[in-house]
Amino acid sequence: MEILKGIGASPGISIGPVFLLASGKVKTIKTRIPASRIEEEMARFRSAVETVEGELNRLICDLPEEIKEHSNILQSHILMLRDRMVYDKTLALIKEQGINAEWAIKKALQNVKAIFAKIPDAYIRERLEDIEFVVKRVETVLSGNNVSLDLFAVEEPVIVVARDLSPADTLQISRENVAGFVTEFGSRTSHTAILARSLGIPAVVGVEDVTLHCYSGELIVADGLKGQVVIEPTAQMLQQYQDKRQRYVRYRLEVVQNSNLPAETMDGYRIKVEANMELVDEIPIIIQHGAEGVGLLRTEFLYLDRKELPSEEQLFYVYREVAERLSPYHVTIRTLDIGGDKLVSSISTDNEINPALGLRAIRLCLRERGLFRAQLRAILRASAYGNIRLLFPMISGKSEIVEVKKVLTQVMKELADAGIPHNKDIKIGIMIEVPSAVLIADVLAREVDFFSIGTNDLIQYSLAIDRINEAVSHLYEPLHPSILRMLKVIVDAGHSAGIEVGMCGEMAGEPLYVPILLGIGLDELSMNAMAVPKNKRLIRQSNQEVCAAFATQLLGLESAKAIKKRAVEFFRENYPQDMETSDFLEFGITI
Ligand code: PEP
Ligand code: MG
Repeated sequence: MEILKGIGASPGISIGPVFLLASGKVKTIKTRIPASRIEEEMARFRSAVETVEGELNRLICDLPEEIKEHSNILQSHILMLRDRMVYDKTLALIKEQGINAEWAIKKALQNVKAIFAKIPDAYIRERLEDIEFVVKRVETVLSGNNVSLDLFAVEEPVIVVARDLSPADTLQISRENVAGFVTEFGSRTSHTAILARSLGIPAVVGVEDVTLHCYSGELIVADGLKGQVVIEPTAQMLQQYQDKRQRYVRYRLEVVQNSNLPAETMDGYRIKVEANMELVDEIPIIIQHGAEGVGLLRTEFLYLDRKELPSEEQLFYVYREVAERLSPYHVTIRTLDIGGDKLVSSISTDNEINPALGLRAIRLCLRERGLFRAQLRAILRASAYGNIRLLFPMISGKSEIVEVKKVLTQVMKELADAGIPHNKDIKIGIMIEVPSAVLIADVLAREVDFFSIGTNDLIQYSLAIDRINEAVSHLYEPLHPSILRMLKVIVDAGHSAGIEVGMCGEMAGEPLYVPILLGIGLDELSMNAMAVPKNKRLIRQSNQEVCAAFATQLLGLESAKAIKKRAVEFFRENYPQDMETSDFLEFGITI
């Protein structure tokens, strides 16, 4: 028996034979091309790209109905094939350096990797995987060794073990024949992980060298709850896992069945549980999992992987679709939170030494007025078709929100003058994610209709911990006393001004924190859709008065360690049945 650690990317336990997917690394043949054959080489490259486009288009047509909604991932692959950093760059390298297409595309990819390495935002950085996928496809076609995209015609339920799985690979695997995924690469926010979650297939990613540790046919357990795999388990271990799987299946059935019940505590306190969203194709999961609206729509993804900025019209269609499909629930659309050295090829920003403190989010929008106004016009126009709220990121002081409101008023006037329908009373809110905003929350509360606390950044800026730097990640502590105090200040300021206070940072979706957030008095929690049912269930088992007393007790403690210890005790006392099924091991808590 061998136990390997990884990251739980999609919850659940699967037990079955390994289906080892060969890594299939394409060997690059590097040759110089004489000037007389350059045109021919460029044509060979163009034709390889067309072949891959054809394959992807075929794959889109053949997608089974149940996963049709994910076809936009493949569409984005088609767009990436023609991305200037890949397509134009490869052609230019062939021409300028006289090298063969395989070599040129490899160099183009290295260039893209160097740019992506500087991007602090994990979600955007991970889109590199998609680019690598399309490049690999083109390389395969160029090498003349073109295996079909239909990589595995698996007939019995297996656990696919691979170095990496592209979203396209994942999309081909249906629920019937694949019981789980295990990969060496990837993270919780990679497309493959998102897909695995939406297909309800347990997945463990980031398992070092797993492909070297097992072979096809061997029995393996993929524990997506704990983030580990067990190869050839002993009879005793196997029995334990079969029991754990059964308990988890029962738990999931029960929580999902009840996911449409209101998030109301036993003493009648109502809190809204909503979903965070990045992609339009998440809408069905959001609805199925009982989210009561979208508390944060990160709009960044519409600006990625394009040569040009999306037009107002393109944005409008997407926002309208989201608003219509989620109506009557509200959709909180956050204006663009990008900048610094985050890669959006269509927006040029200077190289910044300290991008997290640089020209990002609202600062960038207030400088690039054309960009900002187009987004606002699109959101406002879409507001005529559903229940949209507007959210502005990274507000650090009053003058910013005053300026934002000025732009908004102008845009509304333009729309009104042109007779374009929009919601004149659209609710506007700000993210509270900069410490200065916490300290003047009372002032800011008078300017807006709601607050949404972005703990991902608030913790980063308050504790001076770079949220993407692994070397300091152990200091990234949501239960730091300073953070709890800040949450209390924000909630109290909001409530004194009569506005609602929500939270959309990752902290909102972690069961360990939910009783504390209930106790502090948050009105809305917005989280990844998969986390909605279990947190609603926790809320329904809670008593707000008890949670409030508990939060007051925690606010009196002096260290993160003491707070965490007490929080775990409280959880164990009040929600014993949820201990095992929650992702507690992420907190280093053994049950
Ligand atoms: C946050 O900072 O908590 C947040 C929700 O925004 P993002 O993670 O997109 O920065
Ligand atoms: Mg943020």
